[in-house]
Amino acid sequence: MSFTLHGLPVSSGIAIGHAHLVSHTSLEVAHYVLPKHMVLEEVTRLNAALETTRAELAALREHRPQQAAAEFDAFIDLHLMILADDHISHAAREMVLREQCNAEWALKVQMDGLVAQFEAFDDVYLRERKTDVVQVVERILKTMSGQPGHVPPAGKQGVMLILVAHDVSPADLIQLKPHQFGAILTDLGGATSHTSIVARSLNTPCVVGLHHARELIKDNDMLIVDGAQGVIIVNPDKPILAEYKLRQTQLELERQKLKRLKTARATTLDGTVIEMYANIEMPNDLADVKENGATGIGLFRSEFLFLNRDVLPDEDEQFEAYRAVAEGMEGLPVTIRTFDLGADKQLNSSKRVASNPALGLRAIRLSLAEPQMFRTQLRALLRASHYGNIKILVPMLSGPSEINQTLQFIAATKQSLDKEGIHYNPAMQIGGMIEIPAAALSLNAFLKKLDFLSIGTNDLIQYTLAIDRTDEEVAHLYDPLHPAVLHLLSHVISGANKAGVPVSVCGEMAGELSYTRLLLGLGLRQFSMHPAQLLATKQRVLTTSLPEIATLTQRIMRASDPMKIRDLLDRLNA
Ligand code: PEP
Ligand code: MG
Repeated sequence: MSFTLHGLPVSSGIAIGHAHLVSHTSLEVAHYVLPKHMVLEEVTRLNAALETTRAELAALREHRPQQAAAEFDAFIDLHLMILADDHISHAAREMVLREQCNAEWALKVQMDGLVAQFEAFDDVYLRERKTDVVQVVERILKTMSGQPGHVPPAGKQGVMLILVAHDVSPADLIQLKPHQFGAILTDLGGATSHTSIVARSLNTPCVVGLHHARELIKDNDMLIVDGAQGVIIVNPDKPILAEYKLRQTQLELERQKLKRLKTARATTLDGTVIEMYANIEMPNDLADVKENGATGIGLFRSEFLFLNRDVLPDEDEQFEAYRAVAEGMEGLPVTIRTFDLGADKQLNSSKRVASNPALGLRAIRLSLAEPQMFRTQLRALLRASHYGNIKILVPMLSGPSEINQTLQFIAATKQSLDKEGIHYNPAMQIGGMIEIPAAALSLNAFLKKLDFLSIGTNDLIQYTLAIDRTDEEVAHLYDPLHPAVLHLLSHVISGANKAGVPVSVCGEMAGELSYTRLLLGLGLRQFSMHPAQLLATKQRVLTTSLPEIATLTQRIMRASDPMKIRDLLDRLNA
């Protein structure tokens, strides 16, 4: 039966393929008693699943993703060890024989017992290993249910898979990067959650906030995903399929045409040059950056180097990553943000769940609370600055006190490098993100103390409108055109322009075509966005005349009625 689902559009494009359901939720396992003559067969089924899972893990280790952290092998080895451990395999076999129960139930009981034991450990590291036990058992159960593992097995080429999940963390999604899903669908999530941002960086259609997709879609269902509209058509009939195939071809042609703009300078019709920078998460995103003709990196979200691992990257590992990006960009600016961990990007080792993570120990607050970790990163950044045009960007600054503390940390780090005779760029620029209304409203302190600013509209909107950007229940209230947001943006851009301090926007708004002219009208001259959005935005810049958009921009700023603002924006974009 064909039906349609609607969610929040996150990453545009059309994908046609087969559903691949992944489970991260708690395990729902039935319990039943087997007739005596079926017990040995059940043990054989369990053994086969254990062996298949072992082979799947071994294959994963062999085809290790290129950008996987060095701990990837250790992580797989740990899972192989858990799989082979008698507490799981042997104990589950014994239980099937003893209690004549189904193998899934035996596995779940063993898992629950082990998890309880791990939870009792004082040692945080050991306590955290319960997650690995659950992941291993989930993997065996998936095999038993006839579904492939979380990650599609290598070699399943020719079949376009569409990932359907209840939720995926940004950390998990980045690991899925090399597997090239045709599209990503989740029940939870907001359009500017970090999961959505990573999905966009994969250049893959993505729809989030679908609520019940995982219940309604079955493994292997045929799906059409329209990422721009947020529409999913499940088991489409032939005419619909043909129509979307045609649209897919047209989109591809448009994409190819845009490639011609790669080397063109982004200049408005009246001759103003606009900088088009790229946002990246990992050093190997550079290929995309180059392919789309970015004039620099406006935001390297360095925290992604810290995710999916139990041992944090040391100074040398970070230095190599930053140096690789700086050298790769061959003298163009590379803006590296100090780690913005916390909220929806938690370290594996993080011990406590904050009651309100978005307002908790996140970004610069965490850096200042973990001086050793911060110093390590600053040393790596400063050392790498010797090899290219690196700038440091500090996330989530709220005002003068945090700016001062940060600058003191940087000064002290420079001193210690001086003492050791280690080279760095003494004039390396330090910038701050404007993501909190308090920052926008204390702009003067930022202008006086910092070399440049970058407006993080994702968080600025979240904190101005008090809307959790990861929560699909309030996603409809997330409004970049809210007068409060527009006034903060205008205030920061014009204030920075007057003071001669460079300012960019690096939130998702920068890559949304419908806002390009509005931001230009507000005085923005530096945009930073995912590489995939660069060429279309450049095309919009090339067809914009700044004198012509001035009046409509002012009218938008004076308007307060949402319908009126939308209407004026449509006229601006016409
Ligand atoms: C932002 O908040 O707009 C931003 C660019 O930072 P992030 O999305 O990583 O929080
Ligand atoms: Mg932010």
